[in-house]
Amino acid sequence: MRRINLKKANVARSDTIRFINRQIVLNYVREKEPISRAEISHETALQRSTVSLIVEELKTLGLVYETEGESTGGRPPTLLRLRAAGCLAIGVDLGTAHTTVATGDLVGRVIKREIFETDPDREITLRRIATCIQSQMLSEPAIEGIGISLPGLVDFETGTALFIPHFKWRNWSIASDLSQLTGVPVTVDNDANAAGLAELWLGRPEIRDVRDFIMVLVEDGLGTGIIFDGQVYHGMDGGAGEFGHMTIGKGAPVACAAGSDECWEAFASERAALARYSQRTLTNGQGRPNFERLIDLAFEGDQVAVDALVETAHYLGLGISNVSKGLSPQAVILGGQIARAWPLIADELRTTIERSSVCRGLSSAPAYASTLGEDTRLMGALSLVLAGKFASVVPA
Ligand SMILES: [Zn+2]
Repeated sequence: MRRINLKKANVARSDTIRFINRQIVLNYVREKEPISRAEISHETALQRSTVSLIVEELKTLGLVYETEGESTGGRPPTLLRLRAAGCLAIGVDLGTAHTTVATGDLVGRVIKREIFETDPDREITLRRIATCIQSQMLSEPAIEGIGISLPGLVDFETGTALFIPHFKWRNWSIASDLSQLTGVPVTVDNDANAAGLAELWLGRPEIRDVRDFIMVLVEDGLGTGIIFDGQVYHGMDGGAGEFGHMTIGKGAPVACAAGSDECWEAFASERAALARYSQRTLTNGQGRPNFERLIDLAFEGDQVAVDALVETAHYLGLGISNVSKGLSPQAVILGGQIARAWPLIADELRTTIERSSVCRGLSSAPAYASTLGEDTRLMGALSLVLAGKFASVVPA
């Protein structure tokens, strides 16, 4: 359920309860679809007539539709589903190496995509993104919105990239710039936050069913998205979730993006795993594998590659345990290419989390590997439009 902003709610509006109930029903459809009115009524303890009224409103708003369930003898039950498949959005995954611009529907199916190298000159990158969007809109003009995933600090409310460390971009009003060029509303968020939303809307059932969880996105760096009450927790100036820079120890194999060798990302990012492998095999530069290859090597039985991944998983586990002690989420999900190495690292990760959680007196939340694969950030970008559409039924 969307949190109520008490600063903006001047007086409790008579229709606030109606909006909240509508959001509760919508959320049940999202989590449990296909679901019948009777089931919603049973699970929410809302009266059947209230549920029916709300469902009619949601149908009018174009957010849900009816479908026939399987008959168990009598008339087949009428079930409800989210109307997401027919809605199109454009997702922009602006990465440190490449940018992907893709048209997709709101259940995460990609219809068209273009990929190009991200230019360090942000104006060039912006124009390139706009050109891709304009050409994709020639064949799919009915675009509901554009979502952008960025590798840095983002002020979600104003759509401003506050700081993108890799390119040293600061204070870039990317949402309004791109909206002016394309005429389509634009939503922007940090990549780990957007990936968290993608898990909530499109991810595995264990995550779709929970309200509070932490997304740990492992890449060159390490970012986290905090999802509370089914929404991203942004904190002041969008600065929440910077756990990648929490102190984990000393003498990490690499420095974090800001130059420290004590931060979590310096111990647990892809770069950290690669550095461990290089140190042990004396490969660097030319002979050094990329992270994708490192995982392949580990699956092929290269023990040094396995050890590098397992040691990295150990530090991932320490960080996840620390984050869990502070936030007590219902689940933690690991995204990025490392999710593919799950069979190799799951034991070490879970053992470390469990061992390090003993002091708290509570066992830690379960950890899962993301199923979104290499499109996690792109799915995040599309989910920004999806979440905006389905959360907008409650007044801010
Ligand atoms: Zn740091």
